Amino acid sequence: MEGLFSAGPGCAGQESAAITHCHLPPATRQVAEHLSERNSTLNCGRRVIGSMKTETQDHPYGKAVAKLIEEFGNLPGIGRKSAERLANHVLSSSSAEANALADAIREVKISVKRCSMCFNLTEDTLCRICRDSRRDQQVVCVVEQPKDVVALESSGAYSGLYHVLGGRIAPLDGVGPEDLTIQQLVHRVRKQGITELVMATNPTLEGDGTALFITNLLQNDNVRITRLARGIASGSVLEFANREMLADALKGRQQF
Ligand SMILES: [Zn+2]
Repeated sequence: MEGLFSAGPGCAGQESAAITHCHLPPATRQVAEHLSERNSTLNCGRRVIGSMKTETQDHPYGKAVAKLIEEFGNLPGIGRKSAERLANHVLSSSSAEANALADAIREVKISVKRCSMCFNLTEDTLCRICRDSRRDQQVVCVVEQPKDVVALESSGAYSGLYHVLGGRIAPLDGVGPEDLTIQQLVHRVRKQGITELVMATNPTLEGDGTALFITNLLQNDNVRITRLARGIASGSVLEFANREMLADALKGRQQF
């Protein structure tokens, strides 16, 4: 299957499905030629993943391979060629290696759950951060997703706790405050003596809107609400900063 699909003419930069098949057996070649004809009529501007399902339904290697390619193609950032490459890898792996991958996926879905306090991902009732008594129990950093906790922890500069909202308020996507863990956050602030909330939602319209919504909910509570500094990234140069970054950097200037 390696080399079955390569970029077709006029589709530069996309994982299109033009086919080179001189090395294939006759029966497979027929199917490959058929696919090649169909693919040549595909609109190159169309999203390729959208067409993957149709394309893989009659894959020369059979339905099982087609299904595997389709599943890999559903992963974020994986296009048609990458899905084919991953499927090839699984096909060429030993049964033990392939089963280890399947078991790891199955295991993570069984054992990983939400922390009962901060809603970070964990295999226990409380996550490792919530269990750590050396951390500042009165400062809580509010983030959208568990991956944001990982990013902030990698800085090594924060020693408080977290609260994972599970997303951001996005009316256009049908996500309201009740879909997030905002009420649980308000409850934590009022019951656990939290003195500071650090808003670390993404600096987008929806992320800022979510932070503002929470700030309004807690305006009469005795908690200091801060947000992450924003502006020019360390190591970058002014020339490449956009208007919003420069405006934020000027507003947030500090004593030298
Ligand atoms: Zn936790």
